[in-house]
This record gives sequence, structure tokens and C-alpha cells, in this order.
Amino acid sequence: MDIGFIGLGKMGFPMARRLIAAKHQLIVFDTRQEAVGRLVALGAQTASSPRDIADRVETVFASLPSLQASLEVATGQNGVIEGKRVKRFVDLSTVGTHMAVRIHGLLAKRDIVLLDSPVSGGVGGAEKGTLAVMVSGPRADFETVKPALDAIGKVFFIGEQPGSAQTMKLVNNLLSATAVVATSEAVTMGVKSGLDPSVMIDVINAGSGMNTASRDKFPRSVLPRSFDFGFATGLMVKDVRLFLEEAKALGMSMEVAEAVGRLWEVVMRETGAESDFTSAIKPIEKAAGVIVGGKGSHAAK
Ligand code: NAD
Repeated sequence: MDIGFIGLGKMGFPMARRLIAAKHQLIVFDTRQEAVGRLVALGAQTASSPRDIADRVETVFASLPSLQASLEVATGQNGVIEGKRVKRFVDLSTVGTHMAVRIHGLLAKRDIVLLDSPVSGGVGGAEKGTLAVMVSGPRADFETVKPALDAIGKVFFIGEQPGSAQTMKLVNNLLSATAVVATSEAVTMGVKSGLDPSVMIDVINAGSGMNTASRDKFPRSVLPRSFDFGFATGLMVKDVRLFLEEAKALGMSMEVAEAVGRLWEVVMRETGAESDFTSAIKPIEKAAGVIVGGKGSHAAK
């Protein structure tokens, strides 16, 4: 099918590449020309704005880094909302339930359907086409885009209620965020008492402590100290904040999630929003006076 694709970053680029490989015709846009050029080399056409894309295709996908970027691309000046042909906007970004409902309401006034389609599984999942794709919105539009979404991962229909897929995604990411900081604290404690972190990760992964951080993030990006997993700390903090805001709006208070949220705020303050989220271990190491992994774990000087 003809698909517009806006936002060709760490996630958007590999997802767009898979859509081209699955024989869909793509028209792409990003504020970074370099990212557009890489997709044109693979056969995509270019566009001058989100509106230009929405003038030319019925289905527009987006993978954008902030709530504001999704709102602007969808409903701002020269946005998808002004397009003549567009029928549906498929937002693969994590924007939270509140923003999804707001975008849904604005687009609905122009008879454009929003399909919330946040994804989980990281850059590796986007490259391999193994993402979990969570979709909410009208069932008929979901059926129209499902064959394309099948090219990027395993597709789950969450419900027709606007924003419900975003709620699902926040639940998932709170657990992912918790796994990273909890594993960082646990392994740092082990190193401080003299254990070898590589042995610890092997044991955890053969035992009941195993989680996505010990299984994927530690072996690939923490123990080698490359800190290059492909998800920015600022994006993780965005997701944890959204989860906590939505829990609060439901009148819930949460012991674990609030502690996890406080720790991620420290991580962002100390390592910066652009750092890779596997850097979460750094402030924990600093407080403990140890280094985990690398050429040899040791007590910091
Ligand atoms: P990213 O920053 O790497 O990519 C975002 C892209 O959007 C960039 O290429 C940027 O130039 C472009 N962009 C920003 N504003 C724009 C605008 N107004 N118009 C057009 N293009 C614009 O971010 P990412 O890591 O690819 O994440 C994208 C979304 O996917 C986020 O919502 C994130 O929470 C979610 N997500 C990321 C991961 C991950 O592992 N990186 C995993 C699951 C979900």
C-alpha cells in the first residue's frame, strides 16, 4: 500500500526500511535531511512537509520523539490534518493516553482517524521486525493497516477506545524502566561485595532474577560499557512520567513506580536526556564507589 512515514530516527528508520522491503510504497519526511536521504537511497519518495504527505496518501505513519512533535505533525500548521487525501494517522510514538485522546479529537473534526500504535522491543526489534505493536482505534481502519504493521512486528488490537494502546504501552515501559534500575542496583551491590558482574549476569539469566535488562541490556551495553542500546534516557523518563501522571489521574499511589520515577529523574540529571538509558547504572555506581563491567570491575578510585 502507499504509506507516508514521518520521523526516521532510531525506530522510524528501521521500521520504514522494513515496509519498503515488504513492497510498500513510501513517501517520507523528517526534519533531518540525512535521514531522508538514506531512505530515498532505498526507494522512498520525499515530501516537503507532513501536509504534503497527507495530500498524497490515505495512510500516514509517524514515529516521533515527543508529545509536542506528534501534536504538531498531526494537527499543526502544515500538519497531516491539512492534507486532502489522508484518511488515517498511525502514531507509532509513545505519547500517553491524554495526548492520544487530544490528537484523536482534533483529527476527528476533519474525519481523519487516529490509530494509536505504540511499539515495544527496541531498535533491535525494529530492525528484525519483532516489535510488539499495540493498536487502538476503529476496527475497520485497523484491518486496513494490519498487513503493513505485520511487517514491523507482532500486532495486538487493544480496543476501540482512543488512547487505550498508549495505556498498554506505558504499563509495559514502567516494567522495562524498573528492570533497568533494579538490575543496576542489584548488580552494583554484588560488585561492591566482590562478585564478578559477568558471572552474576549469567547466573541471573539462568535463574529467577532474569529480566529484559539482565537478558538484553547488560550483556550488550552495560558490561562492555558501550552504553549504546538505542533508547535515550529522556525518552525513558518521558514514559515513566506519563505512567505516573496517568496512575495519579486514576487516584492511585504507587510505592515501587514512584521510587523508580525518582531514580530515573536522578539518572537524567546526572547523565543528560540524550544519554543512552543503559547509563542508568552510572549514578548508582558513583554512589557505591564501584565500576561494573569493562576491563575489570573494581572499586572506583
Ligand atoms: P529519535 O529521536 O531517534 O527519532 C525521532 C525522529 O523524529 C528523528 O529523526 C527526528 O529528526 C524526527 N523529528 C522530530 N521532530 C520532527 C518533526 N516535527 N517533523 C518531522 N520529523 C521530526 O527517537 P526514537 O528513539 O526513534 O523514538 C521515537 C518514538 O518511539 C518515541 O516516542 C519513543 O518513545 C518510541 N520508542 C522508542 C524505542 C527505542 O528503543 N528507541 C522503543 C519503543 C518506542
